Amino acid sequence: MEDNVSKIKDRLDVVEVLSGYMKLQKAGINYKGKCPFHNEKTPSFFVSPERQIWHCFGCAKGGDMFEFVKEIESVEFPEALKILAAKAGIELEQFQPRSGESVDAKQKLYEICELATKFFEKQFQSSSGQEALAYLRERGLTDATIAEFRLGWAPNDWESLSSYLKTRGYQEKEIIDAGLAVKRSAESGREGVYDRFRSRIVFPIFEVSGQVVGFTARVFEPSSAKSGQPGLAKTGETMAKYINTPQTLIYDKSRVLYGLSKAKLEIKKSDRCILVEGNMDALMSFQAGVRNVVASSGTALTPTHLRLLQRYTKNLGFCFDTDQAGAMATRRGIGLALAQQFNISILEIKDPECKDPADYVKKYGPQWSEVATGAKPVIDYYFDRARSSYNPTSAESKKQIISAVAPFIKRLTANVEKAHWVAQLSSLLRVPESAVSADIATFKDDLDSYTREDSAPETTVPIQTVVSREEPDVINEMILSLVLKAPMLLRDEIMAIPDCLIGERLANIVHQVVESEPFEFKTFVARFTGEEALQLEFAHLRSQELWQGFDDETLKTEFCNIINSAQRRAINAKLTNLQFDVKEAEACKDRERLTRLASDFNELARQLILTHHIYGPKEKTQETVKEEIVSEIKTETENQTGQENSL
Ligand SMILES: [Zn+2]
Repeated sequence: MEDNVSKIKDRLDVVEVLSGYMKLQKAGINYKGKCPFHNEKTPSFFVSPERQIWHCFGCAKGGDMFEFVKEIESVEFPEALKILAAKAGIELEQFQPRSGESVDAKQKLYEICELATKFFEKQFQSSSGQEALAYLRERGLTDATIAEFRLGWAPNDWESLSSYLKTRGYQEKEIIDAGLAVKRSAESGREGVYDRFRSRIVFPIFEVSGQVVGFTARVFEPSSAKSGQPGLAKTGETMAKYINTPQTLIYDKSRVLYGLSKAKLEIKKSDRCILVEGNMDALMSFQAGVRNVVASSGTALTPTHLRLLQRYTKNLGFCFDTDQAGAMATRRGIGLALAQQFNISILEIKDPECKDPADYVKKYGPQWSEVATGAKPVIDYYFDRARSSYNPTSAESKKQIISAVAPFIKRLTANVEKAHWVAQLSSLLRVPESAVSADIATFKDDLDSYTREDSAPETTVPIQTVVSREEPDVINEMILSLVLKAPMLLRDEIMAIPDCLIGERLANIVHQVVESEPFEFKTFVARFTGEEALQLEFAHLRSQELWQGFDDETLKTEFCNIINSAQRRAINAKLTNLQFDVKEAEACKDRERLTRLASDFNELARQLILTHHIYGPKEKTQETVKEEIVSEIKTETENQTGQENSL
């Protein structure tokens, strides 16, 4: 694995890899661009070709090319490795068969998947298969659609498919590699393999060329099996409704969209693609004559999916389930698609009896095409939806409207359009346009959360605090960047950094920098690994960008300012805690404790005054300093408690 990483890094350049995803501009020895992971107007995202790293000074994300691909594609390391290996033209060993070329191995898997598809199709003729077929017809599928998409039936049998494939000359290992069989565990006391798909309706997954690469299978229990025969997988236990082919040499779920091979021409022709959630939705839509349709097939939409679609169109119509999860999936997908410059519209199913397109087509048939063509532009959709439930007497309701549409208005590039929406909101909410504009500008942007799969904690943090200088690691990174820029200031004891302000680990690094003479970053950083090395790289990049061309005097001032911030951060944290202690003591009328806390307060206030005297830019009177302390404590407390009242 490690070997693959260094091979890939040898062949690829970080600037080249990142440029495939974002716009980068040369800026001195480094490159810069607008961070794809947080919202910003001026670039604070830097790439160092020399160090082969990237780092955003705004949101503090950073790392090597693997970290970037993980972050932007929302994938884990193994997938990132695959993506970059493909880019570098490196074959990963884990997928290389022991003998023969991988082209042959792939070819075998295609053959196996094709044979399996034929096998499953044929099983509809069995008695249990007849029941499955009846179920599909009952759901509204015609025999023509079932045949066109080659649906099939996997009987409730542990070995029927694997035995069949073995008679056709395939090895157990090959059947496992195709994702169709699973090796029996040692505990079972038996040798060999068993079929992955049993008692399921099988939907073959085609790649764009039309070849079958995998399957998704829906559980179905025929009545003949309900008596509870041995080996029967019963519903209601731990059975998943759908299971899929795992990742194989030819199948990667983040790169395949269900139905694309059949829809691609229609998508090109109509210059539009309709995105639905389930396979059944895609099939029913296709059957109703709306054929420019693909399904994300139960998995979250990925940037790779979108890049695949980009080849055919820039116009996407979303139609996801109307339930809460559907709404979330829709927002996430929209965030991703907006980031890739798609034009987005939303298809609305207005009949409450129909929760998805499949239901709708079953009930209304070809009328589905009217829903598809009547899709609303995404802002109109969210605005209308918010307006229909708007309650003019509730502040919460005003907030909801802004939060629903702000991310879209923010992203509009045409000022006329922006002004239009600001005016709309202003007249609906009866607040001045200037206030609406200000709220839109500061509202948290939930569409940015696409960068993480489980982004719940991230989205609750307002954007402003992410870029604030008070963020602890940003202050520490600033300090380290100054130390790297001008170690002699510490060496000659012109400046000093109290260890307790920056933590033991960082203090240790700082001491080592100071002791290295002459200091050369490249050799110095080689002493470190992991987190510490990365921390140094980030600080080094920051020092290159931020302190470029600064003379010693200015650097000294910057040092003072930052240490000042760090001191005040530490004392303010204590004062804030103290405030809560005071409230607590007041609540239980603990006079003794209150007296003690008051003296603690005086001590901390004295320290804060001292900080101002030592590091403050100007001489201050006791009075102004005291006022400042009070207001600082106030803002500190507001920052902690005022987040819900931000509108
Ligand atoms: Zn950023």
